[in-house]
Amino acid sequence: MPTLTNKDVKIAQKHLKMKQKMITSPCLRVDADLIIPGRGQPIKNGSLISSDAKIILVCKTDILGPEHAKIPPITVPVLMPGMWDCHMHFMGVEKTAVDDMVMVPPAIAGARSAKDIVATLNAGFTSVRELAGYGSDLSKVISEGWLPGPNIYPAVSILSQTAGHGDAHSLPLNLLNDRMRHGLPFYLCDGVGECIKAVRIQIRRGAKVIKVATTGGVLSLIDDPQMQQFSAKELEAIVEEATRSDRIVAAHCHGRKGIMAALRAGCRTIEHGSYLDQEAIELMLEMNAILVPTRSIIEYGLQHAEAFTKESYAKMIKVSEAHKKSYQLAVNAGIRIALGTDLGFSSPTIRFNHGMNGGEFRYAVDAGMTSLEAIEAGTANGPETLGLQAPKSGQLKPGYDADFIALSGNPMKDIDILADPGKVTHVWKAGHLHKSPTKPCGLLT
Ligand SMILES: [Zn+2]
Repeated sequence: MPTLTNKDVKIAQKHLKMKQKMITSPCLRVDADLIIPGRGQPIKNGSLISSDAKIILVCKTDILGPEHAKIPPITVPVLMPGMWDCHMHFMGVEKTAVDDMVMVPPAIAGARSAKDIVATLNAGFTSVRELAGYGSDLSKVISEGWLPGPNIYPAVSILSQTAGHGDAHSLPLNLLNDRMRHGLPFYLCDGVGECIKAVRIQIRRGAKVIKVATTGGVLSLIDDPQMQQFSAKELEAIVEEATRSDRIVAAHCHGRKGIMAALRAGCRTIEHGSYLDQEAIELMLEMNAILVPTRSIIEYGLQHAEAFTKESYAKMIKVSEAHKKSYQLAVNAGIRIALGTDLGFSSPTIRFNHGMNGGEFRYAVDAGMTSLEAIEAGTANGPETLGLQAPKSGQLKPGYDADFIALSGNPMKDIDILADPGKVTHVWKAGHLHKSPTKPCGLLT
């Protein structure tokens, strides 16, 4: 073995020092009149210190130690965690019917989504659970630094039975199968064997969560939101296969039968949950399941009949009242709730576009939450919808991701502040400042 000379040791020490310099970025300090930590009580006149993409300290400014007190701060009125949208889609579609969605070429969907991911970050949403769409591919573009965007935790494709919510009922099945094999965000599977394979394919393509439709839906053509889809055996196979890879299963479900079947099979999040009754609430509590109510799309749908097919609009009207009651029932019963919008369109004519995610907080308050509870549902509760894939995010706490936003006003006094990207003055993701009053998030930065 060759012996090291003094010169060799000096060179090695120099390289080590250079490496340490590269990985130890200077601390960032933000002072705020009010810090809303996501979970727990707000702090008046507080400071947050982060370093290397992680939060290292959150406390009252007057107790900062000398090494942090000397860091020049950025001063803002209100600081809170970057928000989470736990149910949305980057699909790049301009029409609302499933039959139209499946015909959009992936390159067009990707180009439209470029604007959408920037709009999401600009609105203060630093993380999304993307329950079918092109999020897995887009997250690679974001991590390359090519586009600014949120952390995306994708499901890849929604699993649906043939004739189910993810089927395009008016199109030839062969055509759909062909598009499915080329990365379509909809995936048909029938029988236990195909269901197991379908889960494995989504994981292979980057899924952090598995999405399954256990009832019919509103935007699909002929199926009924009240009818159960997939048999108990198929659902159990999907959950078992997902669990083997530490993925939880998110169930799209409106009707009671599909909600109960999803919960009994072990699905951990109930998406929409429009027809909850006392028995379903009790089973949710027993299973420690999370409800993601997605009120935004229903409220938008009620006001914009023109954006939907006649069949979808009729279904929307029917579902909306039941959904309102279910949401209130869940809040009263103390069900864990995480906010999601079901945003998924990219069109200047459909005014339900990415960046409007923060409107969901108002509906949470309308359903009976306090402002602070609604903020927790849209921040700290978000990662919990990912089970063992959950990042340390959604709270301003040491060791958590340095994803936080500043607001021009107090959302505990006016929850609608969160709905206005203009009032989200700063956005930090992984400690990097993506938006400030002089520099909005942009495609060309
Ligand atoms: Zn959805």
